Amino acid sequence: MLAENRTVLLSGPDIGPLEQEYVLAALRSGWVAPAGPDLDLFEREIADRVGVPHAVAVNSGTAALHLALLGIGVGPGDVVVVPTMTFAATANAVAYTGATPVFVDCDPATGNLDPDLLPGLLGEAKAVLTVDLYGSCADYDRILPAAERHGVPVIEDAAEALGARYAKSPYAKSPDKKSPYKNRAAGSFGRAAALSFNGNKIMTTSGGGMLLTADPELAARARHLATQARLPAEHYEHAEIGYNYRLSNLLAALGRAQLCRLDEMIERRRAVRDGYAKVFAHVDGVLLPGADDPAANCWLTGIVVDPERTGWPARDLAAHLAARNVETRPLFKPMHLQPVFAGARAVLSGAAEHLFRNGLALPSGSALTGSEVRRVLDDIAEFLEGHR
Ligand SMILES: *Cc1c(COP(=O)(O)O)cnc(C)c1O
Repeated sequence: MLAENRTVLLSGPDIGPLEQEYVLAALRSGWVAPAGPDLDLFEREIADRVGVPHAVAVNSGTAALHLALLGIGVGPGDVVVVPTMTFAATANAVAYTGATPVFVDCDPATGNLDPDLLPGLLGEAKAVLTVDLYGSCADYDRILPAAERHGVPVIEDAAEALGARYAKSPYAKSPDKKSPYKNRAAGSFGRAAALSFNGNKIMTTSGGGMLLTADPELAARARHLATQARLPAEHYEHAEIGYNYRLSNLLAALGRAQLCRLDEMIERRRAVRDGYAKVFAHVDGVLLPGADDPAANCWLTGIVVDPERTGWPARDLAAHLAARNVETRPLFKPMHLQPVFAGARAVLSGAAEHLFRNGLALPSGSALTGSEVRRVLDDIAEFLEGHR
């Protein structure tokens, strides 16, 4: 097929010679059994990168979330606060424990949990899950102190945010007020955090995740549950139900190669985002949620369209791009609108639904070539030109 006509993907994996070298070396080393030296090194390297003492590599981000919730004692009958603007995995992990998610709406400018809606729930919540949506940290300056005042632990879903830091502060407008969290890495907030290395994330192990925590007991407990809760005995001894959640050594080798390239891949995604910011800069009624966050990892860049002001809805741009083999996707459909969570409690402002109805995620992957990026930007410019 002509390169010109190849579909431009939303967020495809970015794999090269370094990844091949690491995986082949692991294969040749004979460490094909799940455990092995690459797995231990991958945990150490991710922990060091994020600046957290303990890391447990698992086979998905969802598994990491599940183990984090179990690790802080979430179980049947508990209420867990979950941002409604997220991927289903966040809420599914809560459901696995038997606890009940209560969905909370988002800040319209970033899509992240709206801290103003939190206080009313902290009296009854067993835990608060935060999501660093599309690679931009949640508003920790306001969420963490509020949760702490009520003694409610926070679990950070940083599945989309490896490499991001916390920069945005509600105090930003008064620079004399310092944020204690400024510049802290995504994955270091709360009692434990979950990363994902799914194929579409900022870096991939083709499928995988990591639980991060400063609490050695929580890490040990997660490791135990992730290996079928097998007790140290020569025969197979089990005192409780466990899970088969560990990452394999071969996939950890792939992750180690990707981690070497993480900064380069983030820079690439940032350049793509800057291109979109430029092409939409003078379009009245188009907003790029979270795009003014200087410390985001720029995992996915999306737009939110106000059709009253632009004169066109987001789906028209999506159709224009689809006709030119450019993949786009709506922003996440909020959890409170999902059939599976119909009837769940939700504290709503309408912001998440607005993002869903009027949003569009644009191709953002680090594997996009320069000519693919130019092609998408030209296609958007052409659309805007025709809709002035
Ligand atoms: C991808 C993702 C997950 C789940 O990660 P998997 O590795 O696919 O299980 C969880 N939460 C969010 C917000 C995600 O985007």
